[in-house]
Amino acid sequence: MFFWLFSVPGLAVVPITSLFVIRQDTDDSGGCATYLPLPLETWLSESRALVNSGLQALADAQDPSAAEHAVARRYLQSYFRATDNVDAVTLVQGETSSHRATFINQTSDQIADSLNAVKKFLDGQPTDLLETPHLYCNDKWLTKLRRTDIAWDKQGYEVMKVLPGGSMAPMIIEEVPAYQRFLWKENSKGKLVENKKFVPYWSDDLSEYIFDQNYGGKTYCTDAKRNLAATQEQTSASTITLCPSSFTNPNGADGLGSVTPITGQSIHDVLPRSATLYHELFHLVMGPDDTPDITYSWSDQQKTLATKGTRIADGYDETWEQLFRRNPETYVFFSVGYWYFQQTQWSNAANERWSFQSGVAELVAI
Ligand SMILES: [Zn+2]
Repeated sequence: MFFWLFSVPGLAVVPITSLFVIRQDTDDSGGCATYLPLPLETWLSESRALVNSGLQALADAQDPSAAEHAVARRYLQSYFRATDNVDAVTLVQGETSSHRATFINQTSDQIADSLNAVKKFLDGQPTDLLETPHLYCNDKWLTKLRRTDIAWDKQGYEVMKVLPGGSMAPMIIEEVPAYQRFLWKENSKGKLVENKKFVPYWSDDLSEYIFDQNYGGKTYCTDAKRNLAATQEQTSASTITLCPSSFTNPNGADGLGSVTPITGQSIHDVLPRSATLYHELFHLVMGPDDTPDITYSWSDQQKTLATKGTRIADGYDETWEQLFRRNPETYVFFSVGYWYFQQTQWSNAANERWSFQSGVAELVAI
């Protein structure tokens, strides 16, 4: 009898149920039964293809002997304003050309770091995440509460406080010191007042609270804004929630490459539904605070870059260009766009490829 103990293939593909804690046998309370194995395993493999395309674009841009070199550089320039052409970089007021050289290196390093962090996670390698993240396929793993409800601890017991006379009484959620940063804020006179922006939600699955908006009488996934997905790191294990609408999203193509490119077609028209998961992975591995959703629109991004890219963005201490290098949807556009450029099935000549280097499809020679 043979035991194939050492026959593990070198490129073992990690299934989604190993990367995330997922309730596989039910759709209740955030479970994903309906979406396993498909389409979730497809979304995972398309996310792997996308991150590899993004990294290949960086490699091609750095390799002058690559046939794709010139086009890869154009992608980096148009999606991220990253270039190794020193003269093409606009200097922010007060910057010298030595700033410029540093800036160029930092730019491609930053893009590579983001993509590599996502790739590591997808390969099942250790990341900065302290616990295995949870993946939910609806928002019903959360129960909305009132700030004045009795607080529970991680073991499900009531959190107690000592009253002035020495007796014990249950604490309410808004009294728990750890939650005060969500539920209270200082007003202009320095007085502590209720922060109405957040309400507490309880997760039975995690035995923890998260603090989020109220969404009127609705929930995150049923809100009028038609949210597709969310990632949060308030709980000890980070979570990604895919809303049911993400699986039927009419703006998403059925699969990566299921739309054949035609001249002038917008990058938006070829984004697969799996891009929702790919987008959330950037929030997950780098943390939502470091990955602000600046825009989901290619034309918004281009307009902003063209008119004020090197200006400091309102409310931030970075330029718009720098912010877009942390915007998950920019990585979606970049990766899907370059993936299309790598394909050969839609071109007639060996030296022709479809490219989204300007955000719309065009046939280019390489
Ligand atoms: Zn986002």
